[in-house]
Amino acid sequence: MTTIADRLELAQQRITTAAKNSARNPDEIQLLAVSKTKPVSDILAAYQAGQRRFGENYVQEGQQKVEALLQQCPDIEWHFIGPLQSNKSRIVADYFDWMHTLERAKIADRLNAQRPSDKAPLNVCIQVNISGEASKSGVVDKDSMLALAAHIATLPKLKLRGLMAIPSHSDDKQLAKELDTMQQLFNTLQLGYESVDTLSMGMSQDLELAVAHGSTMVRIGSAIFGERDYSANAN
Ligand SMILES: *Cc1c(COP(=O)(O)O)cnc(C)c1O
Repeated sequence: MTTIADRLELAQQRITTAAKNSARNPDEIQLLAVSKTKPVSDILAAYQAGQRRFGENYVQEGQQKVEALLQQCPDIEWHFIGPLQSNKSRIVADYFDWMHTLERAKIADRLNAQRPSDKAPLNVCIQVNISGEASKSGVVDKDSMLALAAHIATLPKLKLRGLMAIPSHSDDKQLAKELDTMQQLFNTLQLGYESVDTLSMGMSQDLELAVAHGSTMVRIGSAIFGERDYSANAN
């Protein structure tokens, strides 16, 4: 039976191979372990294998896990990667180090106001709705990306780190096109902001193609923790 530690190592090897195939330095690509719906014991197993970055999608579930692991694993970096309703922004401001799914100035304002002053600025990525599907979140074009970036830059408790996308997985050609557009948007954003260093894209299915298109942070869930069971999840 493969363990979480084994699968973590396999994911790392996939990143290294993908980086080499694109003539990139593997150290430029960070692995975010996506632990949504998974128990604290799974996070602990990955932690003991050396993993320090974890991603959660649900506010309350994330808060519970941060609290459960605070003493034992104080050096975990927690990333919020799910959709955020404005009435729950305080939990993200209080408990997380990163927020990948920022898409509105109003939420940015709330996070900035709610971020505790004894904490480092919240690292944020702007989510881009790269597939253009109505069901997906995110800014829809370059102008709205730049407008939101300019707004974030005025907020002292937020630090703009980059862009995040969840591409459509209809077919490989469409996927490559979307990833390519993301890379161009990322290059544009980097020209304007020194703090921008993160292109958050790539999941278990498509990490190789994402790395080929400049991803600097891949978000890997099922390839590390196994398939998810949503039936027990209420939030
Ligand atoms: C669940 C999730 C992931 C991980 O997906 P896998 O296919 O399990 O690797 C990555 N990013 C986001 C935003 C997610 O919601």
